[in-house]
Amino acid sequence: MRIAIIGSGMAGVSCARALHSFGHEVEIFEMMSKDSPTRPRQMEGSAHFLDNVPKLYPDQNLKTLEIRSPSHTILLKGNIGFFYEVGGETGIEARERRLIEESISINYSRRVEKKEQLEGQFDIVVAADGYSSRIALEAGLRSKTPTQVGIGVGFTVEGDFNPEWTTIWLNNQLSLHGYAYIIPFSTTEASLVSFSIGKNVPVKTYRKSLRQLAVSRGWKILDEWVDFESWYDFSSYQKDNLFVVGNAGSFTDPALGFGLKWGVKSAKLCAEAIHKNLDYNLLLEDELLPEFGSCQVLRKFFESASDQDYDRFVGSFRNPLVRNLVQSGRPILQKLALTLLLRRVTQLSKRTLLR
Ligand SMILES: Cc1cc2nc3c(=O)[nH]c(=O)nc-3n(C[C@H](O)[C@H](O)[C@H](O)COP(=O)(O)OP(=O)(O)OC[C@H]3O[C@@H](n4cnc5c(N)ncnc54)[C@H](O)[C@@H]3O)c2cc1C
Repeated sequence: MRIAIIGSGMAGVSCARALHSFGHEVEIFEMMSKDSPTRPRQMEGSAHFLDNVPKLYPDQNLKTLEIRSPSHTILLKGNIGFFYEVGGETGIEARERRLIEESISINYSRRVEKKEQLEGQFDIVVAADGYSSRIALEAGLRSKTPTQVGIGVGFTVEGDFNPEWTTIWLNNQLSLHGYAYIIPFSTTEASLVSFSIGKNVPVKTYRKSLRQLAVSRGWKILDEWVDFESWYDFSSYQKDNLFVVGNAGSFTDPALGFGLKWGVKSAKLCAEAIHKNLDYNLLLEDELLPEFGSCQVLRKFFESASDQDYDRFVGSFRNPLVRNLVQSGRPILQKLALTLLLRRVTQLSKRTLLR
């Protein structure tokens, strides 16, 4: 079968790789030129206890997680999670592209806006064109306006860093319904980001607060960027010979905006559906969409949390049971910690509603 994939982010390259391994003829169309980065360079990743890290190759392990609310600071130590460099010239997408380009043809500087542009040349088209997918819109699969928007304001900063240490700030001065974080690229460079979710994020305000934070810590700002994510309602993720994967299908966790795992997972499910002629929508309903259920609890908390609520939440990590489960490094125990934390978050959200 001849298959076209539109977009060469993590979802597009993962789908291409899986389809190629099944023996299909695959071609990728990427709107950016070969030398231009497809996303701003930054560090992404996750803690194991959130179970949203794709099983790829990490660039760095996370050994110390510092969580700060306005009045509390908590340190969690051990085998907590890992990070990837994304975007730029050395991010995981660029490395994946280099790995597959010997066996899969990547057409750079080729923007595709409708699957009809490729009609007649391919049996199947996969839309992996990222957030606000034009292909999904043109095919009538997604709503016109987003249900939710995530905005990341990011700086690359210079300073002294421990590459296995990350700090997360939970407070309303640094982000709206979200969080801010610093993840080092190395001992001298780091990615400092404020990630907010909401349709009217005061980007300027958070940029200013982040800048003040950098100055107060003695970090020198090297460059800055703004990156988006959007969530849409979908009537279906497949129409005739068109399939949608990754951010293009809004497969991003609605609480924290994590999408790497879901991008890779939807891409693999799509490849399986194409290869075995299975119903892609049913596969997603069985194996991916239910995982977003628990995210709604956390999202609800973020939507209404005051700085005092953030203090109470961060205080939950003082509970020795939660702390030991997170620090155990064992996935099954870390999952239990998540269940306890989500229970706490539900209690806090109820209190907020009663106020
Ligand atoms: C600030 C920020 C922080 C994040 N942090 C994390 C994190 O810590 N952990 C995590 O798991 N996730 C995180 N995410 C989300 C994660 O990065 C994305 O979900 C993931 O990269 C999406 O991959 P994708 O392949 O679906 O889309 P993209 O990486 O956006 O790839 C889409 C590709 O399609 C190309 N394209 C677009 N339109 C066309 C067209 N018309 N024709 C041809 N090509 C086209 C683009 O150039 C691009 O290469 C974060 C996102 C943001 C914005």
